Amino acid sequence: MTELGEQVSSREAAIFERIEAFRRRKPRLLDDMVTLAHGAGGKSSAALLDAVFLPAFTAAGALPSRRDDAAELVLGSGERLAVSTDSFVVQPRRFPGGSIGHLAVHGTLNDLAMVGARPLALSAAFVLEEGLAIEELRAVVADMAEAAARCGVAVVTGDTKVVGHGAADGLYVTTTGIGSIPPGRELRAERVREGDVMLCSGTIGDHGTAVLLARGELAIEADVSSDTAYVGELVEALLAAAPATRWLRDATRGGVATVCNELARDSGLTVVLDERALPIRPEVAGACELLGIDPLYVANEGKFVAVVAPGEAEAALEALRAHPLGEQAVAIGEVRAEPPGLVVLVTLLGGTRIVDMLVGDPLPRIC
Ligand code: MG
Repeated sequence: MTELGEQVSSREAAIFERIEAFRRRKPRLLDDMVTLAHGAGGKSSAALLDAVFLPAFTAAGALPSRRDDAAELVLGSGERLAVSTDSFVVQPRRFPGGSIGHLAVHGTLNDLAMVGARPLALSAAFVLEEGLAIEELRAVVADMAEAAARCGVAVVTGDTKVVGHGAADGLYVTTTGIGSIPPGRELRAERVREGDVMLCSGTIGDHGTAVLLARGELAIEADVSSDTAYVGELVEALLAAAPATRWLRDATRGGVATVCNELARDSGLTVVLDERALPIRPEVAGACELLGIDPLYVANEGKFVAVVAPGEAEAALEALRAHPLGEQAVAIGEVRAEPPGLVVLVTLLGGTRIVDMLVGDPLPRIC
């Protein structure tokens, strides 16, 4: 894989440099109103975070400047807690492979797992629309209880609000998770080094494609299921086999392309992806091609990208593949120093192209 980065010629590097200088300008919030793109997890979401949330909350001393999947709190005893929160608005609420209830548990617990935390407890807050069938609510709550039990954690507190008919679309859930980070675990972008190997824990694009097809608005028949799953056990297996693992991120909204861009931004390094290596099911590739969307940007709900030390890449892959959720794990690229802050894809034809952060929102309400 080491020859990958070398395919980026010096002429291309000069072009990339100019693009990068343009991209490095702080994302500006140009909109007067919230648009769907602000919730897509890509460029507009980052601009909203930079222009509205971070200035307000950082000033109050309430948020750390790091942009990990979960915040870290260090107690007086030295114990490190991880906290993460997430809202779920997926439409439809039930789809092949799961429901909004499964997502609400797995999504938040996976964000804890991405900082190496083991879950301790969950909270759940519901916004219900007047007219929602109690039977449906009961089924979603049963999914959440079942998912939480399988992850070895309980929903210990919660809240319910009801809004009038038409003021919300059925049911929204927000979950917050608290976890404990074992001593010695430091998963962060600053630890990523040139030469590190990018791994993907399995096939990409399954969740977003499954939800899109479940909407039934497209005359496409394909057997695609969501990959919604808790990946904490898989992370434990990875960290046991590859203790020098640098960084993890679950590739949810915005897909693998967006999380690689977050890594490039936060590390100042370049991610070189190998298109030939990307694990994509033929059904997903086919559906995405018909829809004109790139699976690299499609949401996953049970997959993560890991950056591992080159000397531990083999052991890491072996450990991932030994777990049912990681059977399709592969190396998808590597980290280079130049050109800084970019994601570059070496295409099937051997050319290179820049992979930018998600722009706009091709798939709203996917999780
Ligand atoms: Mg995440």
